[in-house]
Order: sequence, then C-alpha cells, then structure tokens
Amino acid sequence: FLLLILSSLIFIVLVMLYRRYRSTSIIKYLILNAIKQNHLVPYYQPIIDAEKRLTCGYEVLIRWETKKGKVILPDEFIPQCEANGVITPLTFQLINTVARDIRKLEVLHGKTLPYYFSINISASVLQDPELIDITRSALAHYHIAPHNIAFELTERSPIDDIEQAEKNCQKLNAMGIQIKLDDVGNGHCDLLSLQKLQATTIKIDKVFIDDISSLTANTIVKSLVAFAEKAEVEVIAEGIETQQQADILLEIGIRYHQGFLYSKPMPFDSLTNDKHFNV
Ligand code: C2E
Ligand code: MG
Ligand code: MG
Ligand code: MG
Repeated sequence: FLLLILSSLIFIVLVMLYRRYRSTSIIKYLILNAIKQNHLVPYYQPIIDAEKRLTCGYEVLIRWETKKGKVILPDEFIPQCEANGVITPLTFQLINTVARDIRKLEVLHGKTLPYYFSINISASVLQDPELIDITRSALAHYHIAPHNIAFELTERSPIDDIEQAEKNCQKLNAMGIQIKLDDVGNGHCDLLSLQKLQATTIKIDKVFIDDISSLTANTIVKSLVAFAEKAEVEVIAEGIETQQQADILLEIGIRYHQGFLYSKPMPFDSLTNDKHFNV
C-alpha cells in the first residue's frame, strides 16, 4: 500500500515537472518563431514637450502580431521572455528594426531626425556585454546618430550584476546613448541605480499620474521633481489620459508628457501622420 502511494506521488511529481517543462519550452519555441518571422513589431508612442507642444521622442513598445491578425500586448509575453532568456534575441532584433525604421524616416524626410527612440531594456539585457556591439553595429549599419536611440530600464526584474550593467552604461553614455529609468516609484528602481547607471531621465509611473489630484500622489510627484532638479535629470510623466492631469503636471514643472491624451502607441506606418511630428 505504501509503495502504491509512493509511486503515485512520484508519478504526480513527474507529470508536474513535465508540464512545466513543456509549457516553458512551447512558449520559447513560439517566441523564437515569432522573432524569425518578424511577428514581433515595434509600435511607437510619442513623448511630447508639453510646453512647446512638439514631439521630442518616441517610446518603442513591442507588439506580437499573430498570423490571424491578433495583436498581443507585451505584458502577456515579456515576463515569459525574461524568464527563459528569449528577451535577449528579441531585444537585439528590436534594436535593429528600430534603427531601420529611423533610417526609413530619415530617407523619407531627407534629413536627420531630432527625436530619440527609447527602447525598453530588461535588466538581464542591460548587463549583457553583447548589447554594446549589437547597438554599435545597428547604428553603423543604418547610419544612425546615437542621440536617436535611448534605452529605458524597465523595472520588472532587478539587476543582479550591477557592475556589468554599470560598465555597459558607461560605454553607452560614451557613445552618446542616454539611459532612462522607467516606472520610477513602482518597481525595483532605487536611486542608487540612477547614479550608477548615469541615467539622464526618470519616468514617473502611471500609478502616480492616475492619482495626481490626490494629496499623496501629488506630494510624491512633487518631491520626485525636486529631487530630479537637484540631480539634474529630466522627468517624463507617463500614462497621461486627461487634460486636467496634463495641466497639474505642467504646473508642478513636468514638461515631458506621454499618454493616450496625446497619442496611443502606433505602428510605423502611422508615424509620419503623427500630428505633433515636426521635422
Ligand atoms: P512601460 O515601459 O512602462 O510602457 C508604458 C505602458 O503604458 C505601455 O503599455 C503603454 O502603451 C501604456 N500607456 C501609455 N500611455 C498610456 C495611457 O495614457 N493610459 C494607459 N492605460 N496606458 C498607457 P504596453 O505597450 O502594453 O507595454 C507594457 C510594458 O511592457 C511596458 O511598460 C514595458 O515594461 C514592457 N515592454 C514593452 N515593450 C518592451 C520591449 O521591447 N522590451 C521589454 N523588455 N519590455 C517591453
Ligand atoms: Mg518603458
Ligand atoms: Mg514605464
Ligand atoms: Mg509601466
């Protein structure tokens, strides 16, 4: 009887292990396939200088366009990509695609662009030494100026090799590529990484913008702004949906705005129709 219980326990454990293995490897397979078939495409959301009412950059937000025409949002697959390491080839391909898109825009307009295109970088990719070469060759291949590219460190997962991340950021800074800290106030970000990574910008998380008329969120945002001024970093507020929020933020002194109020993320083909687009 004991043997029966023991063997069924072993059986259950084996089945569980197999299922786990199968689901992660299926996802990995699907994503690697999507990368190969160019189904992972960048969308672009303008970042506005709200004082001048002009676009000053775009955030690159990835979308998975399936064969059936469905669009899958990053929250549904980026965490898995981070868990199984696929985030690295995905990001490396994205850097090339974005460089290619910038080049296309420049050719279309017959001049270089004053905008930055800010690519989300997970911690594991920021600390990958290969990131530097990949970026450098993408810039060279498409004849892109380094100020056209920026990286924003998403804070879903913490940096575990801060020294290597620091080295990479030093090299990126030396190349003229800016580092931004994403989701400040609502992630793993600590102000130490701001200093160590020589970040030039903080992006204040949407949760504070949603609540900006409340005393608590308002106070937090004001103190982030005061801090940013002292530390000489720029501030972007993200997730702005209403004019009222935009007005409060301008009053607090936040000039760089991103949110549905101005524009949703859009595919490359719509970029040139961006009403704030000014070359
Ligand atoms: P994030 O980097 O904080 O990007 C901002 C998210 O807020 C985007 O969601 C954007 O579409 C959304 N958003 C912007 N303005 C508004 C607004 O006014 N209202 C609302 N409700 N939402 C707004 P999205 O595109 O679904 O991306 C979610 C997250 O996925 C990103 O958050 C980022 O952490 C991650 N992600 C996206 N693309 C990449 C990528 O290429 N690599 C990595 N590692 N992560 C990525
Ligand atoms: Mg971001
Ligand atoms: Mg963000
Ligand atoms: Mg966010």
